[in-house]
Formats: sequence, structure tokens, C-alpha cells
Amino acid sequence: MRNQTQFYINGAWVKPSRANDFNVINPADESVCATISLGSKADTDLAVAAAKNALVTWSTSSKEERIEVLQALYSIYKRRWSDMAEAISLEMGAPIDFASTAQTGSGAGHIKTFIAKLKNFEFEKPLGDHAPDNRLVYEPKGVCALITPWNWPINQITLKVIPAIATGCTMVLKPSEIAPLSSMVFAEMIDEAGLPAGVFNLINGDGPGVGSQLSAHLDVDMVSFTGSTRAGALISHNAADDFKRIGLELGGKGANIIFADADDAAVERGVKHCFSNTGQSCNAPTRMLVERSVYEQSVAKAQTVAAQTSVDLPAKQGSHMGPVVSQLQFDKIQNLIQQGVDEKATLSAGGVGKPEGFETGYFVKPTIFSDVNNQMTIAQTEIFGPVLSMIPFENEEDAIAIANDTCFGLTNYIQTQDVDKAKRVAKRLRSGMVEINGADLGMDAPFGGYKHSGIGREGGVLGLEEFLEVKVISGWE
Ligand code: NAD
Repeated sequence: MRNQTQFYINGAWVKPSRANDFNVINPADESVCATISLGSKADTDLAVAAAKNALVTWSTSSKEERIEVLQALYSIYKRRWSDMAEAISLEMGAPIDFASTAQTGSGAGHIKTFIAKLKNFEFEKPLGDHAPDNRLVYEPKGVCALITPWNWPINQITLKVIPAIATGCTMVLKPSEIAPLSSMVFAEMIDEAGLPAGVFNLINGDGPGVGSQLSAHLDVDMVSFTGSTRAGALISHNAADDFKRIGLELGGKGANIIFADADDAAVERGVKHCFSNTGQSCNAPTRMLVERSVYEQSVAKAQTVAAQTSVDLPAKQGSHMGPVVSQLQFDKIQNLIQQGVDEKATLSAGGVGKPEGFETGYFVKPTIFSDVNNQMTIAQTEIFGPVLSMIPFENEEDAIAIANDTCFGLTNYIQTQDVDKAKRVAKRLRSGMVEINGADLGMDAPFGGYKHSGIGREGGVLGLEEFLEVKVISGWE
């Protein structure tokens, strides 16, 4: 069992101001795999003070200086790839191959992409030919509180820490207390990269403690948060009193619209995507809307894919599904599956209980409900587990109406070979992202949602601008 009770403040690992041990649980076997500390107000104040102090010089650092430190970090990240993958696999149960390629890979992708965007970013530029003496100047927002979840831990951390460093901000990272180990490996990398003391600080803690202290702290200028819609609302209230900027990346309930003319692999692709990361992705396509004429055959196909989905230990290599992250998540998922049964959806695969042979650990059966209508609890609630709801639709209008009938608006998906129809529908879906026929979004694509899925965008140039203030100066020439 690892002891990781220290925080990284002002360029050094320090003891918490008072002991408040918290056990990190290995979701594969329910054992304690590490002990961290939950910080208190004194720790939060110390970390924010370090960030505030470091802002004086880091905010005036040159672009070249920032690129140099990020390139050093990128090299270290690649060298310590397996440490990162192992930490993620241990703390949140992602199978080791997925933890390495997808999870750790996403962090590397963001570091690399932000370096490229920073190289081309103009921190000073003319407003336009019509006003030649006007200059737009982009300045760091200031001290940022970065609060992240457990499901894609290093993906979320790099989407915040890297643009914050790149734009000359300083920061306090509070990772999820459920999966804090990857962030501590990352802090070691930052330490080695030679970032000036105080620019990056890490304290562990829970939401009501360090999380709330950060979102209310008068010396914090911005809160960038990824997590549940519930916590996002609390943070917004907390941050409102002194008008902090907030960036919120919240939940989702993505629709995957399968038209009758979709390609043959569309259903299989959709089921696999829903089950990926054990269903613990904000952008998971959890509502499969299927055109009535191909509904029955699509349900049969989905059942076959579910039957082929194996569940196994995270430490084993392969493309199986691991456990969900915690007892809390396990219980929530079980209750929602039961609710689906109670509300008379048809259970086409899986169901409540653990898969055979996996009685220890938070393993869930890959589950598919058919005959779901969009008003059911399982169609409206973000389950955050491997549970797919299959909903029939009559025509294009009907599909759009069902897809948009949700409080969320993160990612929707369209499967059709009719290019014009795909574009027409994509424009009418109320979500920050739409993926057609399984095409990937670029690494620098703006990530974020409409409605209860959040405020703001992460990644790419927009992800840099989130951390900047804009100033216009006239009379420049
Ligand atoms: P969570 O909201 O419980 O916790 C996320 C983080 O917020 C943790 O660090 C937690 O300690 C902290 N927190 C909790 N309450 C807080 C409060 N009142 N004030 C300040 N901080 C608080 O979410 P989770 O269970 O860790 O993550 C799952 C959720 O994250 C899902 O809803 C998922 O959709 C969402 N998510 C969204 C995106 C996105 O980009 N849209 C990406 C990943 C996850």
C-alpha cells in the first residue's frame, strides 16, 4: 500500500497542516491501494498563496520559456508512460491496455497539441485594418483552481493544467479524491520539468472541503471544473459572489441516431462505444435511437455484442471491460438498472448483480435495455456505467426531437450513409459535439456542451483562450 499523504505546494512535497487520512480503494478487489490526505483550509490557503505569489513572474514569462518547460514535460511524460498507465489502472480500474493507449495516450495528445497551438498563438494582434491603432492583448486570467474527476483522470488534468501553464496562469489542482494517484505521478513530472515554484500546486481533498474552499477563495480568479452537473451547480453558486470566471465540463446523455440506411457496423460500433471505459465517459452514446424498420434486428445485433463483451481484471492485458470505480457508483448503477426493469423496459442483456466469477470488485454486467421510451428514468439520467437504452423512432423529425429531449447537450452521434441527411440532422442537434459515422473529433476540437453539460470549451485554441483575459488598447501606433 502506498502512502501518498503529502501535497505539492510551492515546488516541494509538504505534509498536510493536519492529518486527515483517506483510503484510495482498488476497484478490482476492494482493497486499500493507497492512503492520501484530505486537505484543510490551511492547506488550501497555502497553495493559493503560492500560486498568487508565483503569478507575479510567471504571468510575464515569454512564450519561448513556456514552450520549453512544456516540451520538457512532454519528454518526461513519454518516459514515464507506464507509471502513468499503472496508476490510472489501479485507481479507477481501467484495463491496463486501455489505461495505456486511450487514457495515458490522451494526456500525451493534449500536451503535444497545446504546444503546437501555443507556438502559433498571437498574444498581441491588431484588431483589424479598419482600426490600425487598436491592439488586442491576451493576458493570463490569474490564479486558477482546477478541479477534476476520476473517469478520465489525466485527460481532464492535461486539458486544464497545460493551457493554464501555456497562458501564464498559475494554479492549484484538486484531483478526484477517488483517483488521485495519476495526478501525483503528474506532479512529479512537473517538478522534474523545472516549472518555477508555485506555478503548479496540488492538494488532495474532497468536494465539500478543498473543492468548496477553492471555488469560494477570494484569491482565485477562475475555477475550471470537470465533473457532475450537481457539483457544477454548487461551484457556480460559490464562485458567483466575487464574479470568478467558471469553466464547467459536466455530464451527458448522448443520443446515437441509427437511421435505416446506416452502415452494417453502426450498431456494433455504438454498443462498444457505450461500454468503453466501462460506460464511465461523459460523452458516451448511452441512448441508441433506432429507426423503427431496423429496430428489431438492431436489438438482436446489440445483444450479440453484449454477449461478446468480456469482463475481467484491470491488470490483465486485452480489450475486456474492467470494474466501475467505486461502491457508490456500483450501487447507483444497480439501482438504475432495477429502475429500468421496474419501469417496464425490456432487459435484453445483463441486468442487476455481478458477472459470474467477479463477486469481489465493482464489476457490472454489460447491460442493454430495449423498448425504452425517452421519458423513462434510464433514458433521462446519466447512469455512468455500461448500460445502453435502445429507443425506436419513426422518422427524422422524431429522431431529432427525442435526441434533444434531455437536459444534457454534450455529444450526439449520427449513423447514415446519406450525407445530406447527416449534415441536416447534425445542425439541429443541441449539443457541443456531433460525430457522424464514427469519425473521430480532432485532438484540438473544442470539447464542451450545451445546456446542463456545461459552460465553455476545452482543448485547442479555444482551450487556451478560456484561460486568458482580452484587453483592447487604442492609440498603439
Ligand atoms: P463529481 O462532481 O462527484 O466530482 C468531480 C470533482 O469535483 C472531484 O474532484 C470532487 O472532489 C469535486 N467536487 C465534488 N463536489 C464539489 C463541490 N461542491 N465543490 C467543489 N468541488 C467538488 O464527479 P465525478 O463523479 O468525479 O465524475 C463523474 C462526472 O463527471 C460525470 O457526471 C461525468 O459526466 C462528468 N464528466 C464530464 C466531462 C466533460 O468534459 N463534460 C468529462 C469527464 C467527466
